[in-house]
Amino acid sequence: MRILLTNDDGYLSAGISYLRTSLREKGHSVLVVAPDKERSAVSKALTLHRPLRMKKIGEDFYITDGTPNDCIYLALGVIEKKYPDLVVSGINHGANLGDDVIYSGTVGAAILATHFRIPSMAFSFAGADLDGLHTAAEKAADLVEALSSHPLRDVTLNINFPPPPWRGIRITKMGSKKYRPEIIIREDPRGEKYYWIGIGSPVASPEEDTDIKAVSEGYISITPIHSDMTSYEHMEKLRSLFHEIS
Ligand SMILES: [Mg+2]
Repeated sequence: MRILLTNDDGYLSAGISYLRTSLREKGHSVLVVAPDKERSAVSKALTLHRPLRMKKIGEDFYITDGTPNDCIYLALGVIEKKYPDLVVSGINHGANLGDDVIYSGTVGAAILATHFRIPSMAFSFAGADLDGLHTAAEKAADLVEALSSHPLRDVTLNINFPPPPWRGIRITKMGSKKYRPEIIIREDPRGEKYYWIGIGSPVASPEEDTDIKAVSEGYISITPIHSDMTSYEHMEKLRSLFHEIS
């Protein structure tokens, strides 16, 4: 397969390097187009107010000063003559579980691929150990193999690995992982205030069948996600509500 590989941790991260190696070892042709620095938590952001730069740093290896989604656009619009067979994003350093999916640049890039009807998989590792990350990259290549004969064009697979050894694989739903707006407020050397967000521990509700629960119990979690965020159960209620006041 021809595989487009990107991430949001930047091209120098161990996660993308291990994944590139494991996919190539399976005989795939891997094109890497990745951000030149970490762009975590940018979701599906696009760079619209400045030009983008892209540099070839090796055979089938490009870096850009944009977001993961910019990387997908540049790969499809500039480098590749036809769409790849698969888009892979990751492996992210850190889990993307529950509400993380909304923020994640790793998952965002994979969702964009689904918009183009290219099968896509986002991989994340819920640990810090590099040996574990390496083992996860090898397992990720196995999962790519398993799905290669069943390309899924209308769904993004969000796959999270706990640290190995694993108890198995669970197909899961997105859990709930809420972040409180905890903010560090300090003063810079000129006496001006600055604010640092994105700190503090999220509150996760470990319901059954969720990605959070699966990973916490040592299972690899595979969550099929789509970008239709409509709450269908509320549509009828809202129709009657607005019918009353219109
Ligand atoms: Mg990241």
